[in-house]
Amino acid sequence: MSSLRLSLTETEIEALPAEDVLRWASEEFGERLCLSCSWQKQSSVLVHMISELELDVDIVELDTQLFFRESYETRERLVERYGLSLIVPDVITIAEQHKLEGPNLWETSPDRCCHIRKVEPLLSALEPYDAWVSGIRREQSPSRASAKKVERSERYGVWKIQPLADWSEKDVWRYIMANDIPYNPLHDVGYRSIGCIPCTRPTRPDEEERAGRWAGSDKLECGIHVEDSSDRGGR
Ligand code: SF4
Repeated sequence: MSSLRLSLTETEIEALPAEDVLRWASEEFGERLCLSCSWQKQSSVLVHMISELELDVDIVELDTQLFFRESYETRERLVERYGLSLIVPDVITIAEQHKLEGPNLWETSPDRCCHIRKVEPLLSALEPYDAWVSGIRREQSPSRASAKKVERSERYGVWKIQPLADWSEKDVWRYIMANDIPYNPLHDVGYRSIGCIPCTRPTRPDEEERAGRWAGSDKLECGIHVEDSSDRGGR
């Protein structure tokens, strides 16, 4: 269990720019800090920022094995440019999932599918850490509107560090372009938010940024950023 006391208050951390949040988190948690990546534009920003700041932060790849080819190619470009070595938690294969849970679980029970392919691997990946950096932003969807730059996750037993919480989509693109950072090319063809192939479609400009995720259902989140786990593992 990580410490429940921080050297700065949540209000003080909220006032810091993203770089300073990362610097502070690195000093606060040392080698017990990790960053999770799924190769969307926020991953590009945070990988670059951590490299520029010369921080030694482990990078966990949450690979569901159902990402787009472009996401895997983005990973390779970032690995090459920044010399990353990735920690990849185990997940059962799609064939094993079909056998255990029935075919195309993402159609019959997307919550269960996300639980198996995202939440469980993350739970095990976070075991050695006290704090977890992710790229979520308040502007992405109503379900993220109250995200803070630092918040406690009892579910995972870690502090969640969200340095981009107050960034807009424009801020992200400004940073990527200004620093010439490799990014997922699907963003150029209407995919403003990118997850697994079966559950992602492009969005229209008038839609919310994450409207293309689990479109046509009331599901808004894969579950990894949801504190209440009560119904997420259900069949
Ligand atoms: S996003 Fe879809 S395919 Fe990916 S883990 Fe969740 S339900 Fe399964």
